[in-house]
Amino acid sequence: MGETTAKVSIIGCGNVGMRYAYAMIIKNMVRELVLIDIDMDRVMGEVMDLNHSIPFTGPASIIAGGYSDMEGSDLVVITAGKNQGPGQNRLDLIKENIDIFQKIMPQINENSPDSVLLIVTNPVDIMAYAANKLSLRPHNLVIGSGTTLDSARLKSRMAEHCGIDARDIHTYILGEHGDSEFALWSSSTIGGVPFKDYCPVCDRRKECDFDINIKGEIFNQVKESAYEIIEKKKETSYGIGLSLARISEAILDNQNSIMPVSVLIEDIFDVNDVYLSLPCILNSDGVRQVIVPLMDEKEKKSFKDSAAVLRKNLDQFDI
Ligand code: NAD
Repeated sequence: MGETTAKVSIIGCGNVGMRYAYAMIIKNMVRELVLIDIDMDRVMGEVMDLNHSIPFTGPASIIAGGYSDMEGSDLVVITAGKNQGPGQNRLDLIKENIDIFQKIMPQINENSPDSVLLIVTNPVDIMAYAANKLSLRPHNLVIGSGTTLDSARLKSRMAEHCGIDARDIHTYILGEHGDSEFALWSSSTIGGVPFKDYCPVCDRRKECDFDINIKGEIFNQVKESAYEIIEKKKETSYGIGLSLARISEAILDNQNSIMPVSVLIEDIFDVNDVYLSLPCILNSDGVRQVIVPLMDEKEKKSFKDSAAVLRKNLDQFDI
């Protein structure tokens, strides 16, 4: 990314909001950063602390603000809301977080009507759908962070298992960012070789039996990892902080990068009117295009099942 002029506002400056802010500063990806939270005192402390990192990165103006300060933001990132407690699943947070969005969205519309919105608050697919309804802007500008983090978790775990740089593992987790998500094993590759054909050519093949045993085990570890981290340290934030920074870079730098984010699904495998994750081309217009990857029958069924889980929750909460 060249010299940046980007203005970003963050609503919700807890664990996730601040890890994201720190990542953006370290990567020198933002010129103006506005931090908004109901806990003004804490945010003022965060701003002082962050400002002391600027001499080691590059010029940036960081303020603890109100909604009027967000005017002219290229990107607004929303992480405000309840996070999961131990044993809770993401869908348990719907009611409280919808109430919060009903309060904050009118203020975002008034002060920053054209910016791209990146929704992070869980359950992210439901919250992105609700934000889209409340946002008064085209749906390509309203994006959920979706399964970007889950896909990073899968790459990281596969990298460990296969002894390969995680950036060279080409795979996605798709669907809900939650319990019904699925791995797109059939179109995943390492070095141009489909996963299913990789084991016979792997120099470490004696050490594992990928297709038969390990695939399910790795997927379950990935799916359960948020629960495990929350059990141990109460929150997850490093992985999501950098996932958000990468999504932001694609948007702010008009990169046309492909990332698995949560978007409005219209007429894909008979699924309509839910937000969930598919690979999308991202640039300064938000979502340029949703890509429908090749899926086998099992994956298509998982995609539809995931959509059904989300639709049921949207109906139940009348969103
Ligand atoms: P946190 O409690 O540390 O931070 C939430 C912040 O929101 C707090 O600072 C709180 O004061 C603020 N807030 C609450 N109501 C507000 C309002 N009306 N206006 C402005 N600010 C408000 O929680 P966290 O760990 O940072 O998690 C934040 C959210 O992100 C949760 O919903 C969590 O589940 C979600 N999350 C999503 C992903 C993902 O992949 N999408 C990953 C991790 C966490």
